[in-house]
Amino acid sequence: MLTALLQPLDHLSVLLYEKREDYTRSRMVQLDPSLVADSVESFRELQSDQDDVEAIFHPLEIEQGVAFRTSIPADLRVLLQQWTLGFSPLNEIEHSLSSLIAERQGDSVERLAAEMSEQSIVATVEPDEIVVDCTGRNSLLRESLTTPGLSSDEGQNTVNLELENSLVITFLYDQSYSCNELCKYYKNSDNPTYKFIPSVARTFSDGNVSHVTGLVNISSEEAATIPQQCDGEWLRENRPEVAKSMDRFIDRVKGETHGEIVGDLQVLCIPLNLYRARNATNRLYLNKNEPEYLLSHSPVVLAGDSAIGSPYFQSISLGFECAMYLASLISQPALADEEMLELYETYIFKQWLRVYMRSKKIKHDKDVFELVDDKLALLELIHLY
Ligand SMILES: Cc1cc2nc3c(=O)[nH]c(=O)nc-3n(C[C@H](O)[C@H](O)[C@H](O)COP(=O)(O)OP(=O)(O)OC[C@H]3O[C@@H](n4cnc5c(N)ncnc54)[C@H](O)[C@@H]3O)c2cc1C
Repeated sequence: MLTALLQPLDHLSVLLYEKREDYTRSRMVQLDPSLVADSVESFRELQSDQDDVEAIFHPLEIEQGVAFRTSIPADLRVLLQQWTLGFSPLNEIEHSLSSLIAERQGDSVERLAAEMSEQSIVATVEPDEIVVDCTGRNSLLRESLTTPGLSSDEGQNTVNLELENSLVITFLYDQSYSCNELCKYYKNSDNPTYKFIPSVARTFSDGNVSHVTGLVNISSEEAATIPQQCDGEWLRENRPEVAKSMDRFIDRVKGETHGEIVGDLQVLCIPLNLYRARNATNRLYLNKNEPEYLLSHSPVVLAGDSAIGSPYFQSISLGFECAMYLASLISQPALADEEMLELYETYIFKQWLRVYMRSKKIKHDKDVFELVDDKLALLELIHLY
């Protein structure tokens, strides 16, 4: 995404290193429609956490963010609009972005198949180049950006919160189907435990096919005994209580809308983590004499899951928003590197506050939902003053 945003800029060129030969992840992902908001009003209307956004960001920042969105080249905007219609396969997003970059005029982007290491970056990068680490959750450079002067324990650069362990159960359903909170409640009314809490949307390519991703909360002990990937059959044989809960939910959907599941259920067992890089740039090292830090002559920036990761279908949109902000900074040649890193660091921290609040609220609401019929247990969950 960042490459596609930077490509039209005359004053720079991009070297894109990618270790994978092909994009094969076909999991369906959902993007936030506010990515293509064309006015401040529509941006505000599309925020589920509008008060938090207003509390964290200055109105001018919101205006500038929307102005950047509306200036995105038309070819990229068309793709974004398509993806925000509903669930899209992740590799479809990756392939479309790669094709768009390849098909555009000019030679300002060079794509190199290589697995980079910190040492190879040090050996390759010139002082006037910016290093952007987009290597995902297991970021290549995140842990090198520790705060100078702290012990290795205190200086750890990743703040990580494990919100829950979850089974992520996905399937395609051959009817148009939607589900609000009331629907989620009634379809789970015979599920005292292992409630199936879905996110439902049409798929981006077909208005009549719905994609359902249900999260089922499990304990860490249970998670340790379930393979990272399995299917509906495995679940029915080995975890019948969870499977019954899921099947009750699905039967009610079918009873209401008279459709069928397309293909099999996919089940992923993963911890849902919320994390951030304390330092998302090397501003504390840039042009400073810190002999143990190897990249002090070039700005280094973490983007996407390298910088922040969050569960509940938010991370790509968050990464795209950060990419837009970073592109807007890089597009200002007069901006000094130090200032650019300070601005980016502040922006990332604000986005972190926002996604932290939103994720904690979703988790709290999920916990309340699990216990909504048990008044005493519910009271245990809430804290007034
Ligand atoms: C089950 C599941 C469902 C999800 N659903 C959603 C959803 O609905 N909506 C949403 O917004 N998010 C969702 N996410 C999160 C989303 O998939 C990630 O946030 C997103 O893929 C992160 O993008 P990224 O480009 O930062 O990192 P990645 O997608 O991890 O890409 C990193 C890239 O860097 C390359 N790379 C890594 N190391 C090196 C190296 N040393 N040298 C060269 N190249 C390297 C990799 O090959 C890869 O192409 C989901 C995640 C999971 C697990």
